[in-house]
Parts: sequence; C-alpha cells; structure tokens
Amino acid sequence: MKILIVEDEPKTGEYLRQGLNEAGFVADLAANGSDGLHLALHGEYDLVILDVMLPELDGWQVLASLRRRGLEMPVLFLTARDQVEDRVKGLELGADDYLVKPFSFAELLARVRTILRRGRGGGLDSNVLRVADLELDLLRRRVTRGGKRIDLTAKEFGLLELLMRRQGEVLPRSLIASQVWDMNFDSDTNVIEVAMRRLRLKVDDGQSVKLIQTVRGMGYVLEAAQEP
Ligand code: CA
Repeated sequence: MKILIVEDEPKTGEYLRQGLNEAGFVADLAANGSDGLHLALHGEYDLVILDVMLPELDGWQVLASLRRRGLEMPVLFLTARDQVEDRVKGLELGADDYLVKPFSFAELLARVRTILRRGRGGGLDSNVLRVADLELDLLRRRVTRGGKRIDLTAKEFGLLELLMRRQGEVLPRSLIASQVWDMNFDSDTNVIEVAMRRLRLKVDDGQSVKLIQTVRGMGYVLEAAQEP
C-alpha cells in the first residue's frame, strides 16, 4: 500500500513518513501543496494524508483538484483543533476522514487502516458513525437514536464522536480531556463528568439499552450490548 503525505512541517512529515514505513507502508512526503498535487496525480497512491494549511496550494485546493480530475483515492486530512467548519468543508469536498492536530501516531494509523479497509466508494455513508441504533452524521452535525433527533452542544458532539470512533474501548478521562477539551490530566475533571452526565441523559435516558457506561476508576466506554 502506497501513501502520500502532504505536510509542510518537516518534523511532523518525517515522523509520519517513518512511522508509516515501519508499519509496512510505502510512504512519500511532499512539503507543499503543488508538489503534493503533482505526486498525487502521478503516483498511484492508495491514500493521501493531507494537511490543510500548506504553502502554494492549500489542502482544500489540492483535494478539489484531485476530485475534479476524477481521482477518487481516499483522503485523510489534518486540521487544527476546533475548526469545525474546516472539517465539514473537507468532508463536503470529498475527504474521507479528518484528524485533529495534535494527534498520536497510533490514532493516525488506526484511521489509515480503517479507511484502507473500507476502500473506495464508501461515499457519503463513511461520514456517518453508527453504534446500534445511534447514528452520528459528521457532515450534517446531526445525531439520532432510533431515528429520533438528539440535540447536542458542540462539546457533547465532540465527546460522542470520540466515544463512537473508539467504540468498545475504555477511554480514560485524561484522554477525553486532551481530545475534546484540550486540557491536561491535572485539569478539573469535573467538567468531563458533568458533560458526560448530560450526554448520557440525552443519549441513554428512557432507552432500554444503555450505550454509554462508566468503568469505575478507568473511564468511559460506549458499546452496543453484547448479544446474549
Ligand atoms: Ca501546515
């Protein structure tokens, strides 16, 4: 599998390239948008990892050019924290997923593998996360359970997105704090507990199957009930 990384920050780019190599991928690195576009057009890549803020052509322009020329390889784009409009714009332009900086390499690798497994033509559906009857639409910023709309704040949406992406995994409060609130572990974790309580009220209250669970002393997990 061949992956193109378009990233102007040399340290990040090189770190990604090496990591992907070690994970068994062939990875090339372009340091600006026009080199990235040129390589993407001619290099037969299975996936492009595309930074948004790039010199010459930005990530949007590169993505739009690729799609305009009929190139449908999956694109994972890298975006700054809290740029919700950016994420929506990227998905509208035909990106397959996004990752918010800073991210861990493990998280990037997990996303890369998921996208490659999903393959091409995932289409719009790949913008919808599903666990049991709970659906989160990344593009429309809409959540439903059993077809019924659930209204969430931006933070609650981010929290639920994280839980759904990592379904079945117990997420420690420190990870939730850093991913959703940009706080470190020392920060007041009460904020997380309060938000989690509200989210659970909205998602699970009145439902016979509770999707979000507290794992004492460890964190939170979202998972569909095990089949009996
Ligand atoms: Ca950049």
